[in-house]
Amino acid sequence: MMKSWQTKSGFTVYQLLGGRSNSYVITNGIDALVVDTGKLTSYSTLIARLQSLNIPLSAVRYLVLTHTHFDHCQAAAKFIENSGCLVIASVFEQEFAKRGFTPLPKGITPVTKVIARIAQFLKQKWFSYAPFSVDIAVRETYALNAPFEGIQIVATPGHSVGSISIIVDAELVIVGDALFGVFPNSILPPYADDVDRMRQSWRLLLSTSCSTFLPGHGCAISRELLNKKNGY
Ligand SMILES: [Zn+2]
Repeated sequence: MMKSWQTKSGFTVYQLLGGRSNSYVITNGIDALVVDTGKLTSYSTLIARLQSLNIPLSAVRYLVLTHTHFDHCQAAAKFIENSGCLVIASVFEQEFAKRGFTPLPKGITPVTKVIARIAQFLKQKWFSYAPFSVDIAVRETYALNAPFEGIQIVATPGHSVGSISIIVDAELVIVGDALFGVFPNSILPPYADDVDRMRQSWRLLLSTSCSTFLPGHGCAISRELLNKKNGY
């Protein structure tokens, strides 16, 4: 069974992909908005999961990319081509998307610092993706219209320069890699371009009334845990 969350105005959020990278779909039962595509190797699973929810590709109006690291958008070009959906991403990452490569983030622990430095050598070859264009480029905030009224996108930079989060009915928020849900009792992603900016984004996330935070990797994070970790 896919994990799912329901909001008061009738949106359901399903987690389409887990494991390596998470992917979500938000639906009102008719129209759908997909958040992140995961890697190309997960593409057939992504499509099969949508099918099992009775969401045809033609019902997908938007693909929102929390950011353009390859593990979140490697299947984007293929998904856009097959669904005809519009792409929403940060204005600060649309040039990366156009050339199919996003600079890799820095490691923030001794181990991930070394890994990030090694990754620099492998760069283009391993971490590029099929390029695509962004239709709606978000700077600070963007509120969607019907049938997605109640869904708002906000800039939550730090992990990457153009990281964005998707707030659903002020109840839950899909945060990409602004938070990391892989290790228990921890929310700090192992990689980030700017840790201070990311912590500012945490405060912005806490300033919403959302109680559930769905990350790009791992499991849902509670407001309590984010509160506890904020300020350290
Ligand atoms: Zn990332």
